[in-house]
This record gives sequence, structure tokens and C-alpha cells, in this order.
Amino acid sequence: MSNKNSTKELREIFLSLKTGIKALKSGMEVLEKGLSKLEKDILNINKETLEKLHKMISKEFEALKFVEEKEESVEIKIEKIEIEPEMEEKSEVSKPAEIESAEEIKIGFYNKTLGKLYDRLHREFSDLYTVLKRAEKTKIGEVDKGEVICRVCNMGPCKVVEGVEELKGICGADASLVSARNFARLVAAGVSAQADYAKSIVETLNDIVKGEIPFKFRDKRKLKMFAYALGINLEKSEEEILNEVVDKISKIFFQQKGELILAHRAPKTLIEKWRKYEVMPRGIDREITELIYRTSLGVDQYYKNILFASLRCALADGWGASMIATELQDILLGTPQPVRAQVNIGKEVIREDMVNVVVCEEDPLVAEALIQASKDLEILKLAKKAGAKGVNLVGLGCAGNEILMRKGFPVAGSFAYQEAVIATGAVEAIVGRLIPNVVQIANRFHTAVITTNPISLMEGAICVEFNRKYPLKSAKEILKIAVSRYSKRDSTRIYIPDEAIEAISGFSAEALMYVMGGRFRAGLSILSENIINGKILGIALISGCDQFGANENVQVELAKELISNNVLVFSTGCSAIKLGMAGLLVPEASQLAGEGLREVLEAIGCPPVLNMGSCVSNSRVLTVLTEMVNTGGLGKDICELPVIICLPQWVNEKALSTIMCFVSSGLQVVFDPGNLIVENKKTNKFLFEEVEKYFGGSIRFAKTANEFSGIIIDRIKQKRKELGIDQLRPRIFYDMAMRRTLDEKRYISSIHKSGFFEILENRSIN
Ligand code: SF4
Repeated sequence: MSNKNSTKELREIFLSLKTGIKALKSGMEVLEKGLSKLEKDILNINKETLEKLHKMISKEFEALKFVEEKEESVEIKIEKIEIEPEMEEKSEVSKPAEIESAEEIKIGFYNKTLGKLYDRLHREFSDLYTVLKRAEKTKIGEVDKGEVICRVCNMGPCKVVEGVEELKGICGADASLVSARNFARLVAAGVSAQADYAKSIVETLNDIVKGEIPFKFRDKRKLKMFAYALGINLEKSEEEILNEVVDKISKIFFQQKGELILAHRAPKTLIEKWRKYEVMPRGIDREITELIYRTSLGVDQYYKNILFASLRCALADGWGASMIATELQDILLGTPQPVRAQVNIGKEVIREDMVNVVVCEEDPLVAEALIQASKDLEILKLAKKAGAKGVNLVGLGCAGNEILMRKGFPVAGSFAYQEAVIATGAVEAIVGRLIPNVVQIANRFHTAVITTNPISLMEGAICVEFNRKYPLKSAKEILKIAVSRYSKRDSTRIYIPDEAIEAISGFSAEALMYVMGGRFRAGLSILSENIINGKILGIALISGCDQFGANENVQVELAKELISNNVLVFSTGCSAIKLGMAGLLVPEASQLAGEGLREVLEAIGCPPVLNMGSCVSNSRVLTVLTEMVNTGGLGKDICELPVIICLPQWVNEKALSTIMCFVSSGLQVVFDPGNLIVENKKTNKFLFEEVEKYFGGSIRFAKTANEFSGIIIDRIKQKRKELGIDQLRPRIFYDMAMRRTLDEKRYISSIHKSGFFEILENRSIN
């Protein structure tokens, strides 16, 4: 029985097992189907997502580069400008035997990197004339105080002495007229430089609009904001808007009558002053040519009238040429945002294992094309074949500052570093607008000196004419020359002092507003509030150039003193690079700031010195100051703000145009006049005192950091007193009614009023 039962039980178990296995099998099938469905779905999602991502990346990538240049037959014009031999009798003058040895040249250095590299040059090449040796040897025109030289006509040159009737010019011009004319001509030269630069960017955008340059502009939001300022209807396609912007801006240069439309961005009270004293600029070229003409013999013979015309011309720069260049550059390449990079010479800046190309080029399109060409496969292959890991681009001077601002590329140094950077022995090419002396330094190494524009040729340099229609090809030709020099590099002669330091750049007006208020409260109310409550004493812009061989690092000493006195520092041009090399462009430098300023900086994570870009970026400062006036609480005009401008060193005439523009915009400007002769009683009285009654700005002279800081702090305190914010205000207790009134008055920044966020929304939809 039991066996029978057991067999039955076993059969049942066997049947159950069989059913179980069947169920398991069908379950497995369902599971398998589910898995394969899931797999299919996931793969599909990934594919779609990947496709979307790919499209997005390609779109972004396309926007970030030149479109493929299809035309292959184009030839880029390359020309070596040979050094012509001097006349025989001239060459006898500079025999090596007559040149002083390095030890006899006593040169001071504000910067140890420069000191090391110039030491090398003077030690290894005692017969070489560096800029510093030339500065020691060259006698700067000796003109006594109260004397001015006039070269306006061929009856001269005349040496005119202040207040001496018999020592007027042959034509009867007195010292005030001659010094005003000299000054005005320099201002006109400065404005013309910025105007030509701006025109080149307008031309580039014009060619992009016509489809002749294979490049897509970057900042659509900025395009709309700029178009809005020009009164252009925004209900059109971006291409149409750009077309209209280019058209309208092109006309501004040649406008003969009326008012410069961009000057209408200034505060209303300032515009009224410009109209009242007839300095409201018309077209940019009109102001330049008229100023030059006025200063000719027999035209304008009244010094004051000439100085007024200089102010008008300078306004055509700051609120015209420089502003156009800045805004269009932002549209073309993107508005700068804070970015970290290295400054000064160091092993991460000049790379021992790469082809180093130093870019000192003003044209942003050239720099942009070089960036792209440095990543081109053909160039990379060539570099590798030559034994290098690739091509390393390094910025230099103001132009370097522009690259740095947008891309975070390293900057080897200021304008004064042109010779020193070659002395590292590891630079294959230096490209751009340079001083002529670099050719003889480059000839002692393997460095190619390359210019890119036929208007800036140089004996001994190679001109690779930058063909704007074929930017990539032009840039590749430049890099091919650089790569070909790599094999000529003598590795035993490389000397790279490792002194680079980190810096943050990219404080455009928009970036500053974002840093101060975030995306939805972008504006400057935090800045104004902290000036009003006294945590920030005021603002000083340190602008201007860098001079070869200066002993005192005046910009750096000045900036340190200012921030320790709670003055927030803005900076542009080569000054900004020098301040970066001193470690002042990083948030950590706020440790050097006074208690109030440090508290604000630490709260918003900002450095005490804000790098706003190259010298054309001075127009960004005008935008920021106008925004501060619009924010309210600090007066109704720029001249009421506790803000001051200083140019401790200047080299280029552009600096004089900057000075006059800020003066006529209501700001005091302190600068070292150097050998600029305005030492005339009447001219000085006008620039120091009289002009302040008209526009609120004036000029002061200073040489040392102490002199500068004394004038700056006194001026800021004077402005605070005039505003009534020099004393701590008694605390006010608000009742509900007062709070409601406060809510009604709540400030809306002009950037919001201008439709900034509507534009932003459109952009995000696009
Ligand atoms: S314009 Fe008069 S001051 Fe000047 S160079 Fe001629 S003559 Fe002399």
C-alpha cells in the first residue's frame, strides 16, 4: 500500500514540477519580452536623446566656429618685408664697440620676471639695443617748463615761451594756443585709432550679414539689447536685426549733423549739459577731421574753443567708437563673463613642449581664427611632426586682455613684455601690432615676427595678410610659419621663469550686474547701497598702459592703497594685466581690502579689482556709471558719483581721448602727463578748473602712487560730502505706512526696464 501510495505521490510531485516548469518557462518568456521591450525603449530613448544632444552640440559648436571654408583655391598673401640696409655713413654710427656694456646700463624693474628676462638679453647680447637701453640713451626733447613746440606749419618748428611776447610763434601763436593745439591733435589721433578699430568690427559684421565671412555671431541677446538702444524694431529675424544694426552704425561714422545716438544712453542731465555747451558729438569721423582741421594754421586760434572741440571729439570716442567696438565685439564673440586664467610668464603659459604663438593682435577675428586653427587637424599633425605636442596661444597686452576676458587663455604680460617674452627662447611667433624693436630681438632667437594687416607693416617682419573671407586659412598660414620655426628652437637656450599667477577677468557691465544681483535682480543696487552705507568708500578706475623700464609699479601700489581704504577698483587695459600679475584679480585678494569693502566682497565672492577688459572697454565703465545713476541714491548725474578715473601710465594717444571723454562725462581724471606739454597757465586753468563748471569733471596730475591715492581719496570724500553720505545716518524706525511707500518705490533697474528679460525669454525660446 505504501508503495502504491508513494508512486501516486511521486507522480503528483512530478506533475506539479512539470506545471511549475511550464509556468516558469512562460514567465521567463514574459520576462524576456518585457526585457527586450525595455531594452528597445531604453535604446530608443537614448538614441533620441543622443540625437537631440548631438544636434544641440553641433549647433553650439557651429556657433562657436567658422563655417567650413569651401573655396580651396584662395591664396593668402604672405610677404616678408626685408630690412633695407642703412646708408653707409649711418651704419658707422652704431658700431658695436661704441655700445655700452650691460653693466653700464642701470635699469630698474618693477617686476622680477621682466628683470630676469632683460638681464638675460643684456648679458647674452651686449651689442643688442633693447627698448630699455634706447630709453637710457635717447634724449627726450628737452623743453623747459613754460615752453611748447609747434610744428603745425612749415614756417616752424617754433619754440614758444609762456608770457613772452617776442617768443610767440612766427605766426603770433601764444603758448596757450600751441599747447591746446598739440593736445587736441593727440586726442584726435586717439579717437581715430578707436574709430578705425570699431570700423573693422562693423566691416566684419557687415560681411557676415552678406554671407561673405563664414562666421556666426554669438550673443543674440546683446544684439537685441543694442538694437533696442539704436531704436530698431525687434519684431524681426535676428539676421534682419543685425543687418539693420550694421546699417545704422555704419552711418554713425559719417554722420555730419544731428546727435550721436549712443550718447543718448547717458544720464539726461549730462545730455543737457552737452547740448548747452555744444559738445554733443555728431558723426565720429566728422569730429576727428574737424578737430585736425581746426588746429591748422589760420583756422581756430582760440585755445578754449580748441579744447571744447577736443572734448566733443573725445565723446565721439567713449560714447561712440569705443562703445560701438565693445558692443559689436560682444555680439560677435560673446559678452565676457568671469573666467579664470593665468597671467605673467610661467611654464603653464609658455609651454616647453608646444609651439608657442604670442598674440598681440587688436583684430578679434584674427585671434578667434587663430584659436580655431590651433585645433585644426592639419596644424596639429604638422606640430606633431615637428616634435611638438600642439600649438599654444598666449595673449599679450590689451589684445591679450580681450582674449583672456572671453576665453580664459593665458596672458604673458602687458605691452611692455614684447621683448621679454621672446627672450624666453621658446616663442615660435609673435603676431600682431608691435613695436619695431622686437624684430632685432626676434632675430637673436628663432621667433617669427608676423603682422596681419597691410596698414601695419614692419621691416624684418612677415606680413600674412588676414583674408577676412577665409579667416581659417589665413590663421593656418600664420600657424604654419610658427610650426616651421619649432625645429629651429634651441632647447638649451630656453629660459622660462615660472612666475605665472591666477587671475579672474571678464567683468563686463552685464557680468557685474549679475554678480551684484543674480539673474532676476541683475543690477547695481547692492553696489550703490554699500556706497551709501559707507562700506565701500567709492570707486576708482585704474586704466592706461604700461611703460617699459618703470621703476615703481605705480598701478599695483596704488590699487593696494585704494582697496585698503575701502575703494573698489575697476581696471582696464595693460593696467589690469599688471594688477593681475600682482595677484589682485582674485577673490583671495580681498584680504588686503579694508573691513567694509572686504565684507561686501566676501558676501558676493568678488575680487577687489575687477578687470573689465582692454582700453575700448572703458565704454563698459560709462555703462556701469550710467546704470548707477539710474539705480538712484547717488545723485542724478555721473559727476555726483564718488567715482574717479586714473591713468598712472600712458603710452598711446588713445589714453588722451579716454581722459577727455571721462572729463566731459563728469569725472575727475588723474594722470601722469609724462612729456606731454600742457604746462601752460591758461590751458591748465581750463582743464583743471573751468571745465569742471561745465561738465563736473576735471584733470589732475600725479606721478607716484602716494600722489595718486591722495588725490583719489580726497575727491571721493568730497563727492560723498556733497551727497550727504559722509556721516553715518541715524537709524530710522519704519511704521507700516512708510513700508508700503517703500514697496511702491521699489527700484527696477534700467536693464529690466529696457526689456532685458523679455529679450532673455525670447532667447531661451529660440
Ligand atoms: S603755426 Fe605758427 S607757431 Fe606753429 S609752426 Fe607755424 S608759425 Fe610756428
